[in-house]
Amino acid sequence: MSKETIFDKIISKEIPADIVYEDDMALAFKDINPQAPVHLLIIPKQPIATTNDIGKEQREIVGHLFWVAGEIAREQGFAEQGYRTVMNCNEHGGQTVYHIHVHLLAGKPLGWPPYQERLKT
Ligand code: 5GP
Repeated sequence: MSKETIFDKIISKEIPADIVYEDDMALAFKDINPQAPVHLLIIPKQPIATTNDIGKEQREIVGHLFWVAGEIAREQGFAEQGYRTVMNCNEHGGQTVYHIHVHLLAGKPLGWPPYQERLKT
């Protein structure tokens, strides 16, 4: 059982978000601190804390999140140019909200690798 997060409040509409897609399983909304011209978060309505907590029963939900990403990309017209989907896990992955989410980034060529630090010190 995961703790309640800010994303639960967005799902229940207790706090506002700029929602771009919703169905019975998932919600997609604009990130409050965008890192690209398009930066959306796609979340399951069922709370799952981290990608470590994805069990067999959640496979359909997680697949659905990526299907939603593709649908939004086609609908918003950036599917052909491309985009990035990212899921951060725990401290080293840079996760700050413990309700799994797919970051959908688009609208410019995105650098790779996405981190700045040196691999060797
Ligand atoms: P993480 O660091 O966990 O991978 O990503 C969490 C994301 O949630 C961050 O990109 C952050 O900007 C976004 N975020 C945190 N709080 C809110 C909020 O209240 N509303 C929205 N729309 N985004 C949020």
